[in-house]
Amino acid sequence: MNLATRRPAPVLLAILTAAILFAGGLLAGGRPPAAAVSRQSMGGVQLREGDRILVLAPHPDDEVLGAAGVLREAVRRGLPTRVVFLTYGDSNEWSFLAYRKRPVFLPRSVLAMGTLRRQEGLAAAAVLGVPAGNLSFLGYPDYGTLALWRDRWGTRPPGRGRLTRATAVPYSTAYRPGAPFKGEEILADLETILRQFRPTQIFVSHPADHHPDHAALYLFTRVALWDLQGAVPAATLHPYLVHYPHWPGEKGFHPREELRPPAKLASGFCWRSRELEPGDVEVKQRALAAHRTQFAYSKSRLLPFVGPNELYGSLDVPALVPGGAVVDLQNLAVRIENQELEINATLVRALPEGTSVNLYAFGYRPDRPFGSMPKLALRIGAETLTIRDQDRILPRATAEARVTGAKLTARIPLAALGDPDRLFLHAETRLRNTSLNQTPWWVLELPAAVAAEPPAPGCPAPG
Ligand SMILES: [Zn+2]
Repeated sequence: MNLATRRPAPVLLAILTAAILFAGGLLAGGRPPAAAVSRQSMGGVQLREGDRILVLAPHPDDEVLGAAGVLREAVRRGLPTRVVFLTYGDSNEWSFLAYRKRPVFLPRSVLAMGTLRRQEGLAAAAVLGVPAGNLSFLGYPDYGTLALWRDRWGTRPPGRGRLTRATAVPYSTAYRPGAPFKGEEILADLETILRQFRPTQIFVSHPADHHPDHAALYLFTRVALWDLQGAVPAATLHPYLVHYPHWPGEKGFHPREELRPPAKLASGFCWRSRELEPGDVEVKQRALAAHRTQFAYSKSRLLPFVGPNELYGSLDVPALVPGGAVVDLQNLAVRIENQELEINATLVRALPEGTSVNLYAFGYRPDRPFGSMPKLALRIGAETLTIRDQDRILPRATAEARVTGAKLTARIPLAALGDPDRLFLHAETRLRNTSLNQTPWWVLELPAAVAAEPPAPGCPAPG
């Protein structure tokens, strides 16, 4: 998790949020209901003989929130397990203040808190029965890894930790101390781990998660699996959601209440639920409490994840065929026409001054390092358009994009995306530097792509 860096939006922002979101409403105000999907209709996630279980966690405590029940069963059945933490969770000054009873902001003190969070991860693993040797801590910058994904590839200088001020992994206990804070380095670590461990089922943070590290870990994992396609056994991805507006429901401990998908994510994902053994609910709670810095600070927001089930929502990955049907990604209608990617969306109303829609389109193809592929970011205002590839501003003629009234249209030549086989697509509305709302990071396959993962068995339509 890591709640401290999620600043509460002022009232004005909340009003704007309700006013200018995409039609079809990502956050149309009020508390959206959980999807009316019964456990039976969602299908389950089962562990099989021969499975090798990899849990990928953005921060220490996410492994418990998302997959404690899975780890417990794997341990009981003697299945190999591995837990990998992307960060040490060291950008969480409010929880550190609550824990230490004094401000923690000097880099040295922040690193000490990161080290403490690693120890809490080891303690939680001990509660779950996972040996300490099965854990790896990568040490990339907490709250900074999506920025590495967007903007720190190739010749760009490394990013910097928000509180540690480090530009490379600063922990001697990390998987690869000294690794620069760059996109390629995270990919390299994940690929080494995937090659060595050869997982069959991977439990990872979710592409619709509003916490940047949670979305980023999914995205890096996706690329790592594509890079290794054919070199390692195909694995099934099970993304778990943690940060989503008004979700998962009432704060506090409700051990009989099931997690259900947010209504707004009912389409576009295949949701599966996995029941916990009754005794495992109590073990999950103890493992969570072992993350003492987090539990002390935000117990009431963590405990709703301790209940009778764990929930996974894998992305539907639609194929875009040139001249074919429009693919509807909730609020984005996407198609390929004349070698261009065309994106249409309807906003609730015209963009107020100071707001923009930021559209991200990153291509992937197997014969080119992902780091060298274009990573286009289009900043579309009422009267303005800026197109960037990482920090580099591209000519306006690179792509077309405009908002006319409440209609958003963008056309991006596939050549400008590096003629990709696969595509990541994401949009967010911003008021200056504040994100008001966002779509999930969608994944699309273009015709040349081959499915990166086998179709997951049986995902009946929500009933
Ligand atoms: Zn987290």
